[in-house]
Amino acid sequence: MHLFVRDLSGHSLSFDAFDVSSLQYAVADRTAIPVEDQRLVFGSSQLVSGRTLSSYGIEAGNTVGLALRLRGGAPKKRCGFMLSNTDRCSQAAVRIVGDCQLCSASFCSRHRLAEDHSCPKLSTCREEAFERNKARLEADATHTEKLARV
Ligand SMILES: [Zn+2]
Ligand SMILES: [Zn+2]
Repeated sequence: MHLFVRDLSGHSLSFDAFDVSSLQYAVADRTAIPVEDQRLVFGSSQLVSGRTLSSYGIEAGNTVGLALRLRGGAPKKRCGFMLSNTDRCSQAAVRIVGDCQLCSASFCSRHRLAEDHSCPKLSTCREEAFERNKARLEADATHTEKLARV
């Protein structure tokens, strides 16, 4: 069956297809949009692969609309490490362990440690640890002094 598909930019492409699947593959071939990303719509119905075009009431010469399917789920997180002022690390962030405990940004396996992404919170964290340590040492010192006096 000869029919048309109106693509994202409004151009009509002509196809010869007998069922939804063959149309999807033909569209993928011509538009470079993978089958799983295509959303073919005729009237108010979305075409499902495996069904015939005529089951949707599509006749020769009709036009089917093509849209992009929105991928389900949250988009993949990218590593937040800046390689330079403008270049971001292109690796995908690792889940859970890629989240920095200090700055709560997500990183790939190479940059996930605070030291590796030169975490902005790292120095404050070190200072805090240093202060805590110092306070403890001083407390210990007074404690030992007291003991010594007894
Ligand atoms: Zn990275
Ligand atoms: Zn961090």
